[in-house]
Amino acid sequence: MRFVSTRGQAPPATLREALLAGPAPDGGLYVPEDLRPLPPDTIAHFHGISFQAVAYELTHYLLNRTISPGAMEDIMETAFPFEIPLVAIEEGVWALELFHGPTLAFKDVGARFMARLFAYYLDSQKQPVTILVATSGDTGSAVAQAFHNVPGIDVQVLFPSEQVSERQRMMFTTLEGNVTALEVQGTFDDCQALVRQAFADLELRSRRPLASANSINVGRLLPQMFYYFHAVAQLPPGSPPPVICVPSGNFGNLTAGLMAKRLGLPVQRFVAATNVNDVVPEYLRTGEYRPRPSVHTLSNAMDVGDPSNFERITWLYGNDVEALRRDLHGCAFTDEQARGAMADVYRRRRYVLEPHSATGYLGIRQGLGLHSGHPGVFLATADPAKFPEVVREATGEGPPMPHGLASATTGIEQTVAMPVEYDLFKSYLLN
Ligand SMILES: *Cc1c(COP(=O)(O)O)cnc(C)c1O
Repeated sequence: MRFVSTRGQAPPATLREALLAGPAPDGGLYVPEDLRPLPPDTIAHFHGISFQAVAYELTHYLLNRTISPGAMEDIMETAFPFEIPLVAIEEGVWALELFHGPTLAFKDVGARFMARLFAYYLDSQKQPVTILVATSGDTGSAVAQAFHNVPGIDVQVLFPSEQVSERQRMMFTTLEGNVTALEVQGTFDDCQALVRQAFADLELRSRRPLASANSINVGRLLPQMFYYFHAVAQLPPGSPPPVICVPSGNFGNLTAGLMAKRLGLPVQRFVAATNVNDVVPEYLRTGEYRPRPSVHTLSNAMDVGDPSNFERITWLYGNDVEALRRDLHGCAFTDEQARGAMADVYRRRRYVLEPHSATGYLGIRQGLGLHSGHPGVFLATADPAKFPEVVREATGEGPPMPHGLASATTGIEQTVAMPVEYDLFKSYLLN
């Protein structure tokens, strides 16, 4: 499998090259060159096997068996020491629980697989590589934990000073070792802009090799395709193709789903559910893409005003909004609606949602209104324990503390203050 740029002006890259490059040299994003459908019997075989086993098979298929079976087993075991269950919530609606990894959010899946690929491909490389990652909450902790103590790597996490909850922050500010947290006096979009500018700065990159761990990195996209297959394989046998709702911010997760469809994933339609940062639902409605500054909401990992992966989505559909509409319905929900869904689902089903997953739940209800008779799956992207205050307000009870979270939220926070000024950021990186 080779990777090409969405802008078509860069030579095709191997996985190793695409992984280390982050954005392509022409400023575009790497996408798999060829997403041919898997043989149907391969997909049928996913029924009843573990997520690790699905990931193993799909990686083998996509990478043309270029990684040895032994190394592959090692990658799967280290990357995925957890399961991804599909849980029935109510008649015809399932939650795909993506939050059973160490930082309790779906980004563990992509980040841990990517970290294992780096460890595998960097073996022979001598110069250390700096991972730059901008986070609105969950990416930073997932990436920091995934790369913590990986030799030859140092991680710089940029986070918006006022917009990350204490629990989220603790997971990447207390690690020490090869992880540094940069507290940026601005928004997530400012963090992302600093990272983008650093990647575009060839002089900087010649002096300090950089790699990206944001959702633009193909190393994160690949494993996110895998769990869509795992979800469908866990539906009752003989189910019609599901409608799948993805609560979205930077749209990496949804992009992976649309790519999985190219690989033959049986799916009726996708639903992109956002909070009030709704540039993509607006694009689906009007045909016009109007990025704008993000607004702070309860589902802060989805507070994105100019989603990086939008470029991959338009590439996949050749800029044809009509074709995209056939595969994707868009909708947006307010914080009040998310709170309402959390309260309602808890009251009726005793199932606890947090604000991101609640947005997914609202989206799947809307999607099933358009496609009745199909099963509905929404991605549950974070453990409610990450959002104790809002869960308590909505349900009247605090979420249970999962094993392991307690130890991740103690320790001494260490951060470096960083104004939104590229020159200062650059000189920091060079010293
Ligand atoms: C990152 C994140 C999202 C949004 O995922 P994208 O791939 O950026 O669209 C949704 N929910 C949670 C909990 C997240 O951390």
